[in-house]
Amino acid sequence: MTIAIPAQIGGQPVLILKEGSSRRTGQEAVANNLLAARVVGELLRPSLGPKGLNKMLVGSVGDVTITKSGVTILSEANIEHPIAKMIVEASKSQDKEVGDGTTSVAILISELLRGAEDLLRRKIHKSAIISGYFLAADAAVSALSKIAVKIEPRDRDSLRKVAFTALNTMLPEDVCNTFAKMATDTVPEVVEKRGNKYVVDTDNIQIVKKEGRGADDTQLVRGVILDKELVHPNMPKRLVDCRLALIDFPLEIEKTEISAEIKINSPELLRRMRDEEAKTIEELVGKVANSGTNVVICQKGIDEDAQHLLANRNILAVRRVKRSDMEKLARATGGKILSNTGEVDAEALGKAGLVEERKIGEDKMVFVQDCSNPKSLSILMRGETEKLLDEYERAMKSVLSVVADVYERNSIVAGGGAVEVELAKILKRRAAQLSGGQQLAVIAFADALEEIAVILSENAGANPIESVTRLRKAHKATSGKNIGLDLQSGKLVDMLKRGVVEPELVKERYIKAATEVTNMILRIDDVVVASKPPPPPKQPST
Ligand code: ADP
Ligand code: MG
Repeated sequence: MTIAIPAQIGGQPVLILKEGSSRRTGQEAVANNLLAARVVGELLRPSLGPKGLNKMLVGSVGDVTITKSGVTILSEANIEHPIAKMIVEASKSQDKEVGDGTTSVAILISELLRGAEDLLRRKIHKSAIISGYFLAADAAVSALSKIAVKIEPRDRDSLRKVAFTALNTMLPEDVCNTFAKMATDTVPEVVEKRGNKYVVDTDNIQIVKKEGRGADDTQLVRGVILDKELVHPNMPKRLVDCRLALIDFPLEIEKTEISAEIKINSPELLRRMRDEEAKTIEELVGKVANSGTNVVICQKGIDEDAQHLLANRNILAVRRVKRSDMEKLARATGGKILSNTGEVDAEALGKAGLVEERKIGEDKMVFVQDCSNPKSLSILMRGETEKLLDEYERAMKSVLSVVADVYERNSIVAGGGAVEVELAKILKRRAAQLSGGQQLAVIAFADALEEIAVILSENAGANPIESVTRLRKAHKATSGKNIGLDLQSGKLVDMLKRGVVEPELVKERYIKAATEVTNMILRIDDVVVASKPPPPPKQPST
């Protein structure tokens, strides 16, 4: 039931909310919130794991996205319910912080809330559930650090396995191999050591997509790629030992804001005006060229006269470059972005070993390579179609973060449900030392974790009850702590040996985040929805 405001106290109407607002309280609010969370869980279940299925999302303007990535499904699904939106935010922040586990975090929230709903029905007080969940999460995270296995990030083989596991839930096997190698080759080059910690800024790695060819042709480029062609055909296509002028002013006669009409009644006057314009451009180009530059990268326009002059001086030039690319170039080449001719001098130029225009697929692109900053790298992604390229890009971004996670915290855990079943076992033992509602909550937490293994098995077409029973049995022995579901063979195997491994950081983050969000949702027992603002008044037509 929705209680409309005004409410009555002692027969007197008390107006505290705007007319049209609605309110849900107590059990009704909780039930509605839990239902929304369950719907999100159900939406994502079929997409979890390597045997999960794709979803096709059609946007409001008919744009299509095909993906298995949890965060993409949730972001594109145009979710309205405020509780469901909280889950979407949790998934997005998981993506931003660690790059993986975005489906798992949403499913875990949904399962924790399902457990809570059951306990509420059994008249367990909310505060006991909330404290039980916090306790369980703490116990799980500390157990996780004991289960986790240390690895040396420079050990490329282990790194490649972590990368492959993250990728194999999104892409076909051969593409996974190519991308896993790419990620494990690339990330170590941008790692910085601060004290005894590694810091990785994956923003240093630019991803550029170009339709055509297959994923196999994806290549690592040491430098920056501009999706642009040279402005003039007579310019050199390839230059070595380059000094780049990064300018954000136009090399053309600027049009004035005001529109003015000039009447010219003699050919002489017209010629003089043209000469004047040509002189201005010549001066402008001269100022840039005299700094000793041989490559001009311009954020604004370069007109025909200027193009010609630059080509005559053997200068290679590109125009209308995006601001974000200008900034990347500044970082990569050590050059300054110059906003007027006064700032152009030899000191302000960037440096690169090679600048070259190459034909990639149907288009031409400009490669700025061997820059003064060796940490500036680009991945040129190839794929047969635009949709495939989008999914490849998501997968590449995710795997770069996952490899970076291993540098940040050099420990891994076994995947395929192994770590969840092991943690569930540990939590159930911990629950035995507790009592009452808290005990039941810790058990519910363990069950929610186990549900990840259930879903992995379900999606692979196996019998989930049987799989989990066998997994539990295998985990009774200490030697069984890494046993998980090998979805290829359908057998239970040691996932560490099988090479299905994930960063400890991803698992830690998803457990912590899911608990925080679940408990936040559980604490809500009053939902007040403001009335919709009236539509803006129609403008009188003129
Ligand atoms: P998320 O968005 O949560 O990362 P995924 O669809 O990527 O969701 O699935 C991740 C789950 O799949 C993890 O629990 C992981 O251990 C499991 N997994 C990944 N690869 C395999 C594999 N080859 N065999 C079994 N489980 C796997
Ligand atoms: Mg994943």
